[in-house]
Amino acid sequence: MKLKRGSFLLSLVYLLAFGVQLSAQDLGPHFKKLKEGIYVYAGQLNDSNVTIIQTQEGIVLIDTGQTPKDSRIVVAALKKLTSEPVRYIIHTEPHSDHTVGNFVFSPPAIIVAHQGATDSMRKAENPATIEKRAAASPEMQEAYKGYRLVTPNLEYRDKMTLNLGERTLELYYLKNVHSEADTAIWLPKERVLFAASAAGFTPRIRFETHSAMAIRDLVAAGVGVALLARSAAVCPGPPIATHAPHPVIPHPPIAVIHRRDRSLSPAARA
Ligand SMILES: [Zn+2]
Repeated sequence: MKLKRGSFLLSLVYLLAFGVQLSAQDLGPHFKKLKEGIYVYAGQLNDSNVTIIQTQEGIVLIDTGQTPKDSRIVVAALKKLTSEPVRYIIHTEPHSDHTVGNFVFSPPAIIVAHQGATDSMRKAENPATIEKRAAASPEMQEAYKGYRLVTPNLEYRDKMTLNLGERTLELYYLKNVHSEADTAIWLPKERVLFAASAAGFTPRIRFETHSAMAIRDLVAAGVGVALLARSAAVCPGPPIATHAPHPVIPHPPIAVIHRRDRSLSPAARA
């Protein structure tokens, strides 16, 4: 695809170790298993994801879904998966399409986000919008039952480590990337990175091509970060998932892909 220097809105939820085989799960049609005990729920195309991380000491969720309907689908899946409670929710960003389902899980789940997330959520809260979304369908009305704004219980600065059972989750603040409080989550033992959104940086363009597979191969080989039409990023190949940029880039929907074992992209480090 053709890229020009300038301001880009980029978005990427996570990247994975290459070679990981996704297998169908009994959790539902939109769930994928990334690694043992790590699952992603990806609803509609361009919607945000929810990640379920099982630990010996309970569940960690990354984000709560595009809408409370998604949150409730995750609740149903969790019932099939475990009797363990959701202990922590980590926000990759404070925007409502990642956080509106907090009320479904918390309390008792403890919500963790970077400093600034609570202020951002409070400022953005708009009861009229919530009412409108809840009224969209009887199904949505049901999903929004009991809605209230639930903001983070803990806000960290720059870096935080969460140790839970056998898992270690490292949270990194992504400065000036997409929102006031973007977080990437790295699981060092599992070598899984959940990178949040990236925005507004000037990339050094090394290579442009119309071949999506060539781009994927180059990224897999460690050449760098790439922007791809979302359709090309989600088609069969290395398991990469995406979420919607804000605002949505209309044509084409864009995804960022990145090699698993490199440090965060220039955008993510910005
Ligand atoms: Zn956002």
